[in-house]
Amino acid sequence: MATIQVHKKYAFRWYEKFYFMSISAGMWVTLKHFLKSAFLRRMVTVSYPEKKLPLSSRFRGLHRLKRNEKGQERCTACYCCQWVCPADAIQIVAAEVTPERQYLHPEDKYAKSFQVDLLRCIYCGLCEEACPKGAIYLDGGMPMPADSRDGLILDKAKMMETEGGKILGERN
Ligand code: SF4
Ligand code: SF4
Repeated sequence: MATIQVHKKYAFRWYEKFYFMSISAGMWVTLKHFLKSAFLRRMVTVSYPEKKLPLSSRFRGLHRLKRNEKGQERCTACYCCQWVCPADAIQIVAAEVTPERQYLHPEDKYAKSFQVDLLRCIYCGLCEEACPKGAIYLDGGMPMPADSRDGLILDKAKMMETEGGKILGERN
């Protein structure tokens, strides 16, 4: 049977075998934070979601679909974002804009269905960069927990920018 020689430098010292030093060091860190927050009021956490820490300027949140200055949807269902997505997280179904849907945008297509799977998305921001219409942005706040997989799929109704608190056009 082969034996492994451990260099003296890496071998356990006798007192290290009791893990006493490591446990004490860990307990000391915990105790330090407890004393700081209990007596010096130096909290290292906040009561989220009542209080929120400032986000970095580079923060990427949930996807949002934008409208133009007339309130029309900017997305023309060109599929650029779907093709560029490295995580295959975007699924779009395009449809022709019928005369009664001219409120959507003046192009010949619109996204009948637009879904982003947050379980696949890696928040790389490539969809935002690739969009020729400036229609999709990752400025929608933090992803929220959900109790089902379906709850983590953003659809058009959840992503579409509102105007005066009201969602214009279709909600599918
Ligand atoms: S942020 Fe990246 S991974 Fe997420 S949907 Fe956009 S392109 Fe795909
Ligand atoms: S969001 Fe932009 S890139 Fe994606 S389908 Fe719509 S227009 Fe094209």
